Amino acid sequence: MAILAPDSTTTIPFSSNGHQDTLLELNPFLIAQRQLAEAVEILELDDATHEMLRWPMREFKFVFPVKMDDGSTRVFHGYRVQYNDARGPAKGGLRFHVQETLDTVRALAAWMTWKTAVVDIPLGGGKGGVTCNPKELSRSELERLSRGYIRRVADFIGPHNDVPAPDVYTNPQIMAWMLDEYEAISRQHLPGVITGKPIALGGSQGRADATARGGILTLREAARTLGMELQGATTAIQGYGNAGAFGHKLGAELLGLKVVAASDSRGGIYNPHGLDHDALGQWKQRTGSVVHFPGAEAVSNEELLELDVTVLMPAALESVITGHNAARVQAKIIAELANGPTTPEADHILHDKGAYVIPDFLCNAGGVTVSYFEQVQNAYNLYWTAAEVHKLLEAKMVTAYHSVREMAERMTVHNRLAAYLVSVDRVAAVMKLRGWV
Ligand code: NAD
Repeated sequence: MAILAPDSTTTIPFSSNGHQDTLLELNPFLIAQRQLAEAVEILELDDATHEMLRWPMREFKFVFPVKMDDGSTRVFHGYRVQYNDARGPAKGGLRFHVQETLDTVRALAAWMTWKTAVVDIPLGGGKGGVTCNPKELSRSELERLSRGYIRRVADFIGPHNDVPAPDVYTNPQIMAWMLDEYEAISRQHLPGVITGKPIALGGSQGRADATARGGILTLREAARTLGMELQGATTAIQGYGNAGAFGHKLGAELLGLKVVAASDSRGGIYNPHGLDHDALGQWKQRTGSVVHFPGAEAVSNEELLELDVTVLMPAALESVITGHNAARVQAKIIAELANGPTTPEADHILHDKGAYVIPDFLCNAGGVTVSYFEQVQNAYNLYWTAAEVHKLLEAKMVTAYHSVREMAERMTVHNRLAAYLVSVDRVAAVMKLRGWV
């Protein structure tokens, strides 16, 4: 059997034993389609349902100009993909990254579709981004880029059809500029058009650390399933941004994890005695990176993944645990705060060696769950306390974790496939109710 590579006429080998070629390993959208195909086969879905779920319902690709501080104009490539909105408005973050491509956005939008379904919130899946290096842009250039992006997509987004949020290298300030631009175009207050906003502009309590908090809750439940004690458990975190740094803080506070390694795009650090969250946060704030943190030795991002730790949290980018290094990963539990960190080939290797993977769109669903709470608060113009948000988030994450665990046990499949079975079934059922398939 062969599948068509998106955006090309190339066919690549497709096998069911998890051994894929390099093209598949490098293209997240092919990975997303491959993961879906496994679930579709088990669920025995018809061809039309599979075809609807295999492709984005709508996608926008555009260029837009940005005036730079030196008076020149640069043209940027932007994307917004509405993968599936059968269960509700498309929902998903915006990424500003040099490696952003249409296929990365498609994959992330597909995973958002499964993510909103696994936590059972009434939203679909979407994603967007701009190919750029935000570290090279001044604050005012970043603002003009953010506003320019919204001017291109304003006709297609909105509280009732597609709602962006932060992702890699975007943050609440960027959401604030985007909201302001959207409201200027719409000539009315519509805070529900975007989530992850600053609290003063209609953001939600508990949104900043929601992705990590949700992941830590699934990790707690996983440890209970496995009968493991996590107090003092050694932990390595790849990617020390929103998801990773809060993963450190909440992992230590709520579960007593001992984080011994952390990394970012510039490299990693390791200290077998443990890394203090506050001190490391201040260091990164001051120097721009975790590297050279006093008392720690240097490790590469690749070495960090293979450290002898109990818990591994990939919290950076896609396809870092692959067929090439999965056999050397020693962690007992892999809590995927990042989207798409593990390739299908690596999944099989990890499963065979008994590693317990909490799959990405379950583990990191706390972010979109609190984004959904943010939209609800915006709609009511009534705001909740952090304690209320945490309680609702915990209920959603615990229920989602156990629906996946039960599916994995019932079908004797690994957790990622179980999560797909839960989510794809829910999206397919709604498409059927709507009469699409
Ligand atoms: P962020 O921009 O806050 O942080 C990203 C971090 O990753 C930075 O520390 C950066 O230096 C590091 N990084 C970048 N390239 C790296 C590399 N090659 N090796 C190691 N580290 C690298 O982004 P974030 O919001 O924390 O997102 C991280 C991951 O979590 C992404 O996969 C994202 O899609 C996922 N995620 C985020 C949210 C959210 O609410 N922010 C929700 C769900 C999933």
